[in-house]
Amino acid sequence: MADCLFCRIVAGEIPAAIVKRSDAALAFRDIDAKAPVHLLVIPTKHVAAVRDAKGADGERLLGRLLAFAAEIAAEQGLDRDGYRIVTNTGRNAGQSVDHLHLHLLGGRKLTWPPG
Ligand code: AMP
Repeated sequence: MADCLFCRIVAGEIPAAIVKRSDAALAFRDIDAKAPVHLLVIPTKHVAAVRDAKGADGERLLGRLLAFAAEIAAEQGLDRDGYRIVTNTGRNAGQSVDHLHLHLLGGRKLTWPPG
């Protein structure tokens, strides 16, 4: 999508600190990190939010994104102490970029519940 910030990062039109990419997903550092490790894992194809990942293709995509995030967490050394993967969906959750993204947070003790 031309006016989507994360699509523009996928296309290389906006710089980002890219950590890993696959054919279906891209991981890069959040510009406003809330933890020592704070990465965003996004599909390279535009999907607005987790509620829009429907049907067999949607299920496959969600599985691949989650597995990709877990793989990166291990590579970032987060397996031993743990980490959090979260996706905000819609206004009440505070989703600010309408391109599906998993936040991967780790490197410190995280509080629960989130606000
Ligand atoms: P959310 O509020 O769940 O929609 O998350 C969007 C995230 O995107 C926020 O944590 C922002 O800090 C992050 N973000 C916004 N613009 C950029 C950017 N250009 N590069 C990296 N992260 C960004």
